[in-house]
Amino acid sequence: MLDNLTGRLSTIMKTLRGEARLTESNISDAMREVRMALLEADVALPVVKTFIAQVKERAMGQEVIGSLSPGQAVIGVVHQELTRLMGEANVDLNFASQPPAIVLMAGLQGAGKTTTVGKLAKYVREQHKKKVLVVSCDVYRPAAIEQLRLLAEQVGVEWFPSSDQDEPVAIARAALEHARRHLFDVLLVDTAGRLAIDEAMMQEIKALHAALNPIETLFVVDAMQGQDAVNTARAFSEALPLTGVVLTKLDGDARGGAALSVRQITGKPIKFVGVAEKVGGLEPFHPERMASRVLG
Ligand code: GDP
Repeated sequence: MLDNLTGRLSTIMKTLRGEARLTESNISDAMREVRMALLEADVALPVVKTFIAQVKERAMGQEVIGSLSPGQAVIGVVHQELTRLMGEANVDLNFASQPPAIVLMAGLQGAGKTTTVGKLAKYVREQHKKKVLVVSCDVYRPAAIEQLRLLAEQVGVEWFPSSDQDEPVAIARAALEHARRHLFDVLLVDTAGRLAIDEAMMQEIKALHAALNPIETLFVVDAMQGQDAVNTARAFSEALPLTGVVLTKLDGDARGGAALSVRQITGKPIKFVGVAEKVGGLEPFHPERMASRVLG
């Protein structure tokens, strides 16, 4: 019980019962615990520091209302602030462009891009009743092209053929042309990823972005990446005008600290979370639930 933040705080703040307001001295002990909890949840250190400073400022002078203990009051402020920073409400995909609305996926290899394209295709077809075309520009892994073909078949959307003999931008242009001619509402574009960020990969995805001018550029990141998510997020958000984030593999052990880090670094909303390998395993992001998960 004591290894969650509520337990820890109620222990260290027992002596404060009866105090009417939170003050600098009585919240600094609490902040030490909050800091530890966030680090344990894999929020990156610089993000933790900024966050603590913000919470401290907000908590200071806050009234401890009614039956709340000071510990509970601090948790309330921390929870509120986490929720606020991760985006108050859920933000859906933007389709407000001349059809087809293009969604470009970006992220490292293994982050879950191809799987997410399958999931999004299903979501957009079923929830938004849109006609969806998917295409893979990953010419380095023929298996990825085949993986997308199978996913498209499974969720009942059309797949635009590509091969490892083609050039990514040429594939993207051909798919866009096909989507226009056949009146598709949405074009989902899968791209190659590398195990680590490299210049060639960034140039390629920038070229794809320039050729397609997508309304959505989604950064896909594995929640299990923990602290490293910050560097990846920074590199992608410097290279591309991202519009949103998909945080995958939340069905694993990850406490979800990456959500806060990635949100803070990119400044873009987390639109969806991946909660299973299967094509139904995609949910809209709920900042409040994530705040509770991060706090443990
Ligand atoms: P890509 O290289 O970015 O295209 O990544 P993939 O889509 O191929 O995914 C890499 C691995 O992660 C695959 O084994 C997927 O089944 C798995 N995966 C992707 N998203 C999720 C998720 O939300 N939950 C789980 N458990 N596995 C996922």
